[in-house]
Amino acid sequence: MRRIAVVGRGTAGSLAAASVTRLLPDRDHELHHVYDSRIPAIGVGEGSWPSLVQELRQLTNLPHETVQQRLKGTRKYGVAFEGWGRRNRDFTHYFTPQQVSYAYHLSADLMADLLHEGTRAHHIDAKVLDIARVEGGAQVEFDGRPPERYDLVFDARGFPGELHPDRHIDISFIPTNTAVIRRCPAIVTEEPGGPVLQHTYTRAVARPHGWIFVIPLTIHTSFGYVFNRDVSSLAEVESDFDAFLETDGVSEFEQRAVIPFPNFVHRQVYDGAVARIGNAAAFMEPLEATAIVSAQLQIGMVLNMRLNRPAENVDRDAPVVNRFLVNNVLRYGLFVGWHYSCGSRYESAFWRHARDRVWPRHRKAADPEVTGCDALRKFDEMIELMNRPVIDKEDWNRMCAVPLTSYAQMSQGLGC
Ligand SMILES: Cc1cc2nc3c(=O)[nH]c(=O)nc-3n(C[C@H](O)[C@H](O)[C@H](O)COP(=O)(O)OP(=O)(O)OC[C@H]3O[C@@H](n4cnc5c(N)ncnc54)[C@H](O)[C@@H]3O)c2cc1C
Repeated sequence: MRRIAVVGRGTAGSLAAASVTRLLPDRDHELHHVYDSRIPAIGVGEGSWPSLVQELRQLTNLPHETVQQRLKGTRKYGVAFEGWGRRNRDFTHYFTPQQVSYAYHLSADLMADLLHEGTRAHHIDAKVLDIARVEGGAQVEFDGRPPERYDLVFDARGFPGELHPDRHIDISFIPTNTAVIRRCPAIVTEEPGGPVLQHTYTRAVARPHGWIFVIPLTIHTSFGYVFNRDVSSLAEVESDFDAFLETDGVSEFEQRAVIPFPNFVHRQVYDGAVARIGNAAAFMEPLEATAIVSAQLQIGMVLNMRLNRPAENVDRDAPVVNRFLVNNVLRYGLFVGWHYSCGSRYESAFWRHARDRVWPRHRKAADPEVTGCDALRKFDEMIELMNRPVIDKEDWNRMCAVPLTSYAQMSQGLGC
C-alpha cells in the first residue's frame, strides 16, 4: 500500500481521496488523484444518510456546524412522501431515532471542495483510458502520459458507458431511468452566526409520470422530476413539472439538466487491486438517496480490509468483500423498488407500468442464481416480519440494507 490512485473527482472520488489521507496519515505512501477536467462531475446528489454527518466531521476535522455551513446545507431528518401507496395519505420515512438522527441536504460541488482542502495528493489532470488488474497491483493507462502501476486504484469515473450482462447486474425492477433537474430560489435561509437548525425533509411527491424530489439548501432548492422516458415523453414531463411548480408557488427556476441513468450494480466492485466506487460501481434512482452512502461503504470496506488484514489475504478477501458490496446495493434496490409496489394516487400509464409490470420482475432479477447473493431472501424475511401480528424484541435490530424501522414506516405509509 505504497502507491494508491483515485480516478475521478466527483463525490465518490473526493470521498475516497480524503479517506486515504485520513487513514494513511504518515507520508510514506503516495496518493495520485487523477481526473479529466474536461469531464464534469455529475453534480447532483444532494441528499444523504446520517452516517455522512459523522464521516465529514472525521474527514475534515471541522465541527458539525462549520461543515453544515460550508455545504450550504440543511439537516435532513427523513423523506416526506406525498401521494404514494394505496392509503392516499402523506407520511414520512424518518431516520432512526426519529427526530434525533439527521443527515445533510448538501451542495455536491461544495462538499467536493471541502474534502479537497484536507486531502494530500499529487493531482494529475489527464484522461484515463484503462484501469486493469496486473500481477501484484493495478495499472492505469493514460491518454498522452506513460502508464503507472499502483497497489490499489479507486475507479470513480462515474456511470459506465453501456451495460453488459457479463459485467453488470441490471436492477430491472426499478421503473425510472431519467431525471429533469431544475433549480429554484432557496426556501430555507441561512441564519446569522450559525447553521440552520430547522428540521427539513426531502419531499418525494408522486406525480402522473413518476415523482418529484424537492431538496432545500440554503443557496437554492433543487427540484428533480424522475420518470421513465420509455413510458412518458419529455414534453409531458416538462408540462407536468411546470404545473407542479405553479401550484407549489415557485415562480422562477433555472433549467439545469436532463439526466438519463442506468439502474445496475457491477458484478466486480472490488477485485483486490481495483475498487469501483460511486456511480462506476452501482446506481439506482435517487428515491432513498442511496448513492453517497453506498460509496462511503465501498471506500470504508476496501480501505479497512487493505490496511488491517495481512497482504497475503488480499486474494481470499476480495471475493468476500465484493459479494458483500454487491449484496448491499441489491438490498437497497429491493427496498427502493418496493416503494412502487402499491402504486400511488395516480392510475396513470407510468404507475400501472411501475406497479404491475416492473416491480413483479424483482424475483427473477434478484434470483440468487443470477446475482450470486442472498439479497432477495433477506428482503423476503423483512416483508415476512412486517406481516407478523407481533414483532419479537429479538428481531427489532434486524436490517436489510436499512433498519427494520424503515421497513415498518414504509409498510405503514404505503399500505403494503
Ligand atoms: C437525478 C439524480 C439525483 C441524485 N440524487 C442523489 C441523492 O440525493 N443522494 C445521493 O446519495 N446520490 C444521489 N445521486 C447520485 C449521485 O450521482 C452520486 O451520489 C454522486 O454524484 C457520485 O458520482 P461519482 O463521483 O461516482 O461520479 P461523477 O460525479 O460522474 O464523477 C466522475 C469523475 O470522474 C472523472 N472522469 C470520468 N471519466 C474519466 C476518465 N476517462 N479519465 C479521468 N477522469 C475521468 C470526471 O472528471 C469526474 O471527476 C443522484 C443521481 C441522479 C442522476
